[in-house]
Amino acid sequence: MIPYVTDTPDIAIPANLLPRDGRFGSGPSKVRPEAVAALADAANTYLGTSHRQKTVKSVVGSLREGLSQLFSLPDGYEVALGNGGTTCFWDAATFGLIERKSQHLNFGEFSSKFATAAADAPHLDQPEVIASEVGTHPVPVAREDVDLYALTHNETSTGVMMPIARPDGAVLPADGGGLVAVDATSGAGGLRVDPEQFDAYYFAPQKSFASDGGLWFALLSPAAQDRIAAITATRRWVPASMDLTIALDNSKLNQTYNTPALATIFLMENQVAWFNDNGGMEFSAGRCDASSETLYTWADNSDFATPFVTRVQDRSRVVGTIDFDDSIDAATVAAILRANGIVDTEPYRKLGRNQLRIAMFPAVDPEDVASLCACINYVVGAIAP
Ligand SMILES: *Cc1c(COP(=O)(O)O)cnc(C)c1O
Repeated sequence: MIPYVTDTPDIAIPANLLPRDGRFGSGPSKVRPEAVAALADAANTYLGTSHRQKTVKSVVGSLREGLSQLFSLPDGYEVALGNGGTTCFWDAATFGLIERKSQHLNFGEFSSKFATAAADAPHLDQPEVIASEVGTHPVPVAREDVDLYALTHNETSTGVMMPIARPDGAVLPADGGGLVAVDATSGAGGLRVDPEQFDAYYFAPQKSFASDGGLWFALLSPAAQDRIAAITATRRWVPASMDLTIALDNSKLNQTYNTPALATIFLMENQVAWFNDNGGMEFSAGRCDASSETLYTWADNSDFATPFVTRVQDRSRVVGTIDFDDSIDAATVAAILRANGIVDTEPYRKLGRNQLRIAMFPAVDPEDVASLCACINYVVGAIAP
């Protein structure tokens, strides 16, 4: 093995400054210990039992109902789920949600990936891609030949959030206009959204829903369901595991087409119930408001840290990116934090900036974000000349 040389200074952060929970990763992210304890309690009768029987189906049903409640879904909307996480949902959408041509807003690593999937699909026209500088977001433009507008609620790689709204002047899907499909993998549950503004709002359990990865969820408007059925009727070839008609039919029965991870479903149901029992979206998004207010106020007042995202309204309330002064090496700060049990504050590697990225999903205690800021101050004070 090549010897690994580390120059991480040996700095112990005083215990009274440390957060109660040191997990600030942007995905997988903090899972609440209470949910894990509930899973352990239910383990003997739930884990290792059939997903086609009532025990599991009732948890899936409760999760689907809980999501409807959390997002105040209008009548006719459906909660669909399937295996494979958001990345597989992109592929499924490429088969079963885009009719011919999509428009993609590209403002970071994740938002660019769905555009690539659509561009590579031989049965689709080349998509329109509207890009903007990292740290900003583009705006969708209504077009007659676009049948799906692909938006991203929160670009996890850069810490930019954008409001979810149909493009200005766009014809509604009911009148033949394009669908609005939103990648809300990191935004859902932590950012407010109006369901009238989307047709497919999709996400995975490992971010605001404080569970593990591997599943996708999609909140589908009647227009999106009609689109799925219409594409199936054209007999376009679709692999069964990517078929949204099959996924939707199974979802309505509180099942998945093939076997899902039962622990993941349990932890997510527990998190959604925790949101709803405490006030729903105002509670969950409110925690993100509080955490992000603390983080950005600290960075604004710091003489070595600055929020990366310039426009205040674009600064994500779920994933904060904080640039460091050249005199402070953010990677060293992240390494010292890690050695003290505060993990996953490293920046998104492909962004390549001297910054920390801090998840503030609803499971993260706002007080722990305040503690984290104090710990960063302590570490910088200890390493700065
Ligand atoms: C994490 C993330 C993804 C990828 O999700 P997977 O479930 O790993 O496929 C996609 N989009 C956004 C915005 C994300 O934050």
